[in-house]
Amino acid sequence: MNHNTNLIEDYYTLESFARIKNFADTQATPFVVVDNGIIDQHYTELAESFPYAKVYYAIKANPAVEILKLLSKRGACFDVASIYELDKVLSIGVSPDRLSYGNTIKKRKDIGYFYQKGVRLFVTDSEMDLRHIAAEAPGSKVYVRLLTEGSHTADWPLSRKFGCQTDMAVDLLVLARDLGLIPYGVSFHVGSQQRDIGAWDSAIDKVKVIFDWLKDECDIHLKMINMGGGFPANYITRTNDLATYAKEITHYLKDDFGDDLPEIILEPGRSLCSNAGVLVSEVVLISRKSNTSLHRWIYTDVGKFSGLIETMDESIKYPIYTEKGGEQEECVLAGPSCDSADIMYENHKYELPLSLDVGDRMYWFSTGAYTTSYSSIEFNGFPPLMQLMIGPETSNPY
Ligand SMILES: *Cc1c(COP(=O)(O)O)cnc(C)c1O
Repeated sequence: MNHNTNLIEDYYTLESFARIKNFADTQATPFVVVDNGIIDQHYTELAESFPYAKVYYAIKANPAVEILKLLSKRGACFDVASIYELDKVLSIGVSPDRLSYGNTIKKRKDIGYFYQKGVRLFVTDSEMDLRHIAAEAPGSKVYVRLLTEGSHTADWPLSRKFGCQTDMAVDLLVLARDLGLIPYGVSFHVGSQQRDIGAWDSAIDKVKVIFDWLKDECDIHLKMINMGGGFPANYITRTNDLATYAKEITHYLKDDFGDDLPEIILEPGRSLCSNAGVLVSEVVLISRKSNTSLHRWIYTDVGKFSGLIETMDESIKYPIYTEKGGEQEECVLAGPSCDSADIMYENHKYELPLSLDVGDRMYWFSTGAYTTSYSSIEFNGFPPLMQLMIGPETSNPY
């Protein structure tokens, strides 16, 4: 064991990390190893923390078939964002009544495709999209996405682009009824990796206003609240644990809706997958920009364009482990491509051992979500990030 054992134990059990590392050490870098067994545990923890909620897994976080199969077996439903995700999830035998078309931005013909395949639950946040749904998916259930606050406390905000204000949400749900759809509920997403649990409080308060207004003024009785994602994964910037999120959020719900809660949906992505993954890269080159420079530049064989896009603006800070020990020194971490934007961390200076050498491996913790799914191009000819799965439902069982 070296001095970095403490770092490992903040994120993995030693046994679990050893399993991942033993497998990783047989493969050439770069790649991410995802342990499906850890996703299974996170699913259990989520289901136990929110026993009254239905889980719709946000496929975009990690669309690996092995993960979809595992979660399908566990009884999860799925938040689907495109016809491609739809075909994938249907191909493993998930029935369409377990799917929601959760993207507010959709082609009219794609709505028709979802409807043909049997999907009857759609999100919207605009009149034009709602009219498309009415035309292509008649009689379906519709929920409206609200704009939320809290983007400054979310490490990867999902605001501005999605959702509408309360007054428009009310108008859309009334229009949904008038167009022959079923006005079903309200959704929000407080921002991914949301560190302020209070963000759910203000969102739930807004939902309550909409429920009451529609009941009292329009005789529309909404049935469902979709509380989106935003639940925490474990990175360098710490958060409360999931149990604390669940306790507080449940309390906010009961404050507004009493014991007789409407149907509650959660759409976790990051919190289920992140901590199941370890991205493994190797050091390509180490340099200093002047003879007197106090920090090194460390170039590695994975970068912003091959899996680490969430380092943009240094938003997500992944813990990094190496097997080298001894004196540490600050460094800038950059990727292998010919683009100067391909720098992962420059303001936040990671400290890595001076003994770190070319060819040494770097283990990026908590990289099971939003790495392979965002790494889809071949910039500079570097292939998309390879993903290797271990554990249940995979071809590499323990
Ligand atoms: C991305 C997304 C999610 C998942 O969010 P996480 O913060 O990763 O849990 C859930 N719902 C919708 C609509 C999304 O776009």
